[in-house]
Formats: sequence, C-alpha cells, structure tokens
Amino acid sequence: MVEKQLICSSCKKRITNDPGSVVFNCPNCGKSELVRCSDCRKLAAKYKCSECGFEGPN
Ligand SMILES: [Zn+2]
Ligand SMILES: [Zn+2]
Repeated sequence: MVEKQLICSSCKKRITNDPGSVVFNCPNCGKSELVRCSDCRKLAAKYKCSECGFEGPN
C-alpha cells in the first residue's frame, strides 16, 4: 500500500484525511503540483508555484 504524502503548498501542513483539500497543477506552467488544505481554501491563502513563481489564487 502506497500512501502519497501531500503537504499544503501554503501552510506546509501535512494533509491526512482532509476531504476539503485539493491537488492541482499550476495554472500558469502546469509543471508543478500544488496542494491546498481545506483551511487555506477557506482563508484564500496564497500559494506559490516552485517552478515558475506563479502566485495564486486568482
Ligand atoms: Zn494549508
Ligand atoms: Zn508554475
């Protein structure tokens, strides 16, 4: 059994059993995978792509 360890791109919190979390590719370059936990989605916390430096959400 392989469990993928996801870490929120904004707050660096480990995501375990967070049904409100999302994983998506950078909307700008599409190269890096961005992770947001439910807290950061609620707060609309910023995330930054490690590949291109794109900052969201917007
Ligand atoms: Zn977070
Ligand atoms: Zn990017």
